[in-house]
Amino acid sequence: MAEWIEGTVSENIHWTENLFTLKIDADIADYKAGQFTSLALEIDGERVARPYSHLSSPGQHPLEYFFYTATDGILSNALVKLEAGDKVWVKKQSNGFFVLEEIPPARDLWMLGTGTGVAPFFSILNTDEPWQRFETIALIYAVRTEADLRYLELIDAIGNRYGDRFRFQAFVSREDVPNTLPGRIPASIDNGALEAAVNLEMSPEHSHFMLCGNPDMVKDVTELLKTRGFNKNRRRTPGHITTENYW
Ligand SMILES: Cc1cc2nc3c(=O)[nH]c(=O)nc-3n(C[C@H](O)[C@H](O)[C@H](O)COP(=O)(O)OP(=O)(O)OC[C@H]3O[C@@H](n4cnc5c(N)ncnc54)[C@H](O)[C@@H]3O)c2cc1C
Repeated sequence: MAEWIEGTVSENIHWTENLFTLKIDADIADYKAGQFTSLALEIDGERVARPYSHLSSPGQHPLEYFFYTATDGILSNALVKLEAGDKVWVKKQSNGFFVLEEIPPARDLWMLGTGTGVAPFFSILNTDEPWQRFETIALIYAVRTEADLRYLELIDAIGNRYGDRFRFQAFVSREDVPNTLPGRIPASIDNGALEAAVNLEMSPEHSHFMLCGNPDMVKDVTELLKTRGFNKNRRRTPGHITTENYW
């Protein structure tokens, strides 16, 4: 049986109508950067639980999670109403294989996330390990509107710390925004625009891809990369593409 810890919300940051961040004090077990736990609330007499990636890095307090309020979504629309001091259940043990120890050696690490799918990347990027293992790390963050682009200060801080070893590229699909790419990630991999924008070549010899968020992005990018000689990363057959689908 899963063990639940009663956490206390320390802050709820409402970024936009549909995006928010919860900071939670909860004494959960140690987790690895990139893993997820579950959060739960009692709704109409039932405990409703869903998985959420840690955005905070191991050892960081309070715990931090980045949310999208799904249309008609039961739990996300209840979590968004929480205020400082409110209680929320947090699963004690975290899970998941979207972690660096599952990634075989590579020179460059590409992190491709849609919306709240960037959360595990922040957890990983704020640890030392990726910087010890990879020469260059590219964070690619795809959203619909400019207002959906969040954690830019954190991204700036990583850039200031690691200089040219860190590359960042945003995609905004529904607006024209300077310094961002239009459209979607798969098309810009296909036509070379992403490699040009990031100034980093994708090659089976040097690159590993972590994909997180919208399952359509994950599927389309995976299929496209396979046509270019990249393979899915599996425990028994290490490859170049490691994925986490949010639904
Ligand atoms: C491993 C894992 C980690 C996850 N981490 C996060 C996270 O860090 N932040 C987060 O917001 N969600 C995350 N999710 C999704 C989350 O578990 C819930 O599905 C989501 O909050 C919706 O729950 P709900 O009860 O409100 O909606 P439900 O009634 O369960 O409706 C789910 C529907 O909402 C849509 N949806 C779900 N999640 C998202 C999303 N993130 N962005 C856009 N649309 C979505 C999909 O269409 C899905 O079919 C994660 C899922 C998995 C499997």
